[in-house]
Amino acid sequence: MGARFDFIIVGAGSAGCVLANRLSEDPNKRVLLIEAGPRDWNPFIHMPAGLSKLINFKSINWNYNTQPEPALNNRELYWPRGRVLGGSSSINAMCFSRGHRSDYDDWANAGNPGWSWKEVLPYFKRSQDQARGADELHGVGGPLRVEDLSFTNPLSEVFIQAAEQAGFARNNDFNGPTQRGVGFYQVTQRAGRRCSTAAGYLKPVRNRPNLKVLTHALTHRILFDGGRAVGVSYRRFGRMLKAYASNEVILSAGAINSPHLLMLSGIGPASMLEPHGIEMVSNNPSVGQNLQDHLDVCTLTRCSQPITYDQLNELRVGLNYFLRGQGEGTSNIAEAGAFLVSGRGRTDRPDIQMHFVPALLDDHGRNRLPGDGYTLHACPLRPQSRGHLALQSANPAQPIAIHPNYLSEAEDLEIMLDCIRLSREIFAQPAFKPFRAHEILPGDHIHDRDGLIDFIRTKAETIYHPVGTCRMGSDEAAVVDPSLRVNGVEGLRVVDASIMPTLVGGNTNAPTIMIAEKAADLIVGREPLSPAI
Ligand SMILES: Cc1cc2nc3c(=O)[nH]c(=O)nc-3n(C[C@H](O)[C@H](O)[C@H](O)COP(=O)(O)OP(=O)(O)OC[C@H]3O[C@@H](n4cnc5c(N)ncnc54)[C@H](O)[C@@H]3O)c2cc1C
Repeated sequence: MGARFDFIIVGAGSAGCVLANRLSEDPNKRVLLIEAGPRDWNPFIHMPAGLSKLINFKSINWNYNTQPEPALNNRELYWPRGRVLGGSSSINAMCFSRGHRSDYDDWANAGNPGWSWKEVLPYFKRSQDQARGADELHGVGGPLRVEDLSFTNPLSEVFIQAAEQAGFARNNDFNGPTQRGVGFYQVTQRAGRRCSTAAGYLKPVRNRPNLKVLTHALTHRILFDGGRAVGVSYRRFGRMLKAYASNEVILSAGAINSPHLLMLSGIGPASMLEPHGIEMVSNNPSVGQNLQDHLDVCTLTRCSQPITYDQLNELRVGLNYFLRGQGEGTSNIAEAGAFLVSGRGRTDRPDIQMHFVPALLDDHGRNRLPGDGYTLHACPLRPQSRGHLALQSANPAQPIAIHPNYLSEAEDLEIMLDCIRLSREIFAQPAFKPFRAHEILPGDHIHDRDGLIDFIRTKAETIYHPVGTCRMGSDEAAVVDPSLRVNGVEGLRVVDASIMPTLVGGNTNAPTIMIAEKAADLIVGREPLSPAI
């Protein structure tokens, strides 16, 4: 096909694989999908419980670290991001959550027509293949399979019962009429295998003659002809190459790399780009700003019975999974969770999310603790703090500096304290009595406010949802307009988690897939799907 295409998509992640599928539906359109990482051959990607091993495979991960965080004892936090076909959807925890409907109404009210809940719901449904069947809120037949877990640890049910004892209602569908409550997550899996966007969207269409997928290809820059994006330059196996797009270049490189690529290409704050000798194409001070993420705090308890996932016989689990497709191997580990209302904000929508893990999980699983235990992750859902990205070099191989600026707003710290309070309240209920030995973290001796704040500053970590760095809006300062076109240039869009104006109240994979589904219609000029009633 040579190096000329109609569309070039940079990044084969949650959004990029969706676009590759939808844009290549028209056999007359030639589509190039460029991915920096390798193919998704690693078997631990596909076996859901392999998630706990993926942290060890550096070659499919960007392995970012933040800059020292002032409110977190100047720690440099680990930020994994997928660098493989499927992107972060190939290494994520598979929890299926869309956030709260009002998150999208907030987007629309902030000057983004077309992005209200009623308008985005049809795209969520188009993407979905809900194992429970179709209804007003769920779709069937889409590429993203959503299933109930076929195997769960008994402690996950204990967690749900304990939360009920603490006064929280059981909810068997966090994406149903109400998000609030406690229950099992549905997961993005098909027959017990991970349904990444590479598996759900890309694999079935890989043989289309008009779709070319390049792996191991690091995009360096967008090429411009005047103010119009006409292609990209990329490095593959040591060679610098170019590809051209007659229609559009679309960045789907994620919330860190899409703004990074814009800056490397001359779109960003002039004051940040000029010192590195980058020729300006469009001065936009908002590129890389508005960084938001879910900061998470974990409560760890020693379990008095050996029933957790800490001491699994890996050979038995692996054989059971690979021979029969059953058992612990199908678990996404974070099996159950909760969406709770702290009472500090609007009382009609949850502002805290929990993920219960029937194992001891410290430092993203990098610090293996001895013995058996269970962990409750909890995070505030709509942090007020805003961070930014800062260019460090014009060399595309040099990572951009990440400044999340967590807890820079006082209110965010208060909700973090609520997170620990509620976690402890749930763990203290009678349902856990037969299993509870003692609290490991924060530790039975820490109860005063100062001690808990110190614990948060020492131990809080990301729960992997950075967004907002190419903010969508109708104002001049926005990075992209509500059709996701980059302001100030032509022929260029950003389609991924970076365009979210505000972080949604839940996990971010399904929302990113929805964004790409909607973007596909915007790009080809199709009428939007009819709004839900
Ligand atoms: C460990 C972890 C657990 C998570 N758990 C969940 C969960 O349970 N549920 C949930 O809903 N969400 C979860 N998330 C979040 C969710 O997966 C992400 O929000 C989502 O995948 C982001 O999609 P994206 O398309 O914006 O970026 P990505 O999926 O990260 O895709 C970006 C792609 O672009 C490629 N790329 C970047 N730069 C270049 C370049 N210069 N040239 C070529 N290619 C490039 C990358 O390699 C990558 O493949 C998790 C994330 C992580 C990391």
